[in-house]
Amino acid sequence: MKETFSCRCCGHCCHGTSTVSLTPREIERIAAHLSLTVETIRSRYLVQKGIRTEMKVVDGHCIFFGEDGLCAIHPVKPFPCRQWPLHPSILDDRQAWEAIRTDCPGFDQDATYEDACKLVRNTRHGY
Ligand code: SF4
Ligand code: SF4
Repeated sequence: MKETFSCRCCGHCCHGTSTVSLTPREIERIAAHLSLTVETIRSRYLVQKGIRTEMKVVDGHCIFFGEDGLCAIHPVKPFPCRQWPLHPSILDDRQAWEAIRTDCPGFDQDATYEDACKLVRNTRHGY
């Protein structure tokens, strides 16, 4: 049986002109994972945009997107990165599902809106 979603590690969701924002706790986790101080993480990898703290964008992708096409901080990546593309907005909005599936090639071509909703409801994103 085909899976409704299986990440193809294409890296598309790690590219763009900005990234998701991080919480202070997520920054601490990244610092611990890389054995660096929070201050070093902030200056080397993060950018402040008003009240939002984001990851820097380098060459059109998140600074943590590695040359191997994988996330360099996968075990501690921010919650929105772990959640994507199974975003709860899908549950309320069929158009959100259509937009997300257009952006992400990991969904099976035959997956229905109901399949996606079921998967979103059944998926946990915790550490
Ligand atoms: S766009 Fe979809 S398939 Fe590609 S890396 Fe992101 S989640 Fe995986
Ligand atoms: S933290 Fe990892 S998963 Fe999130 S955008 Fe950066 S490279 Fe991609």
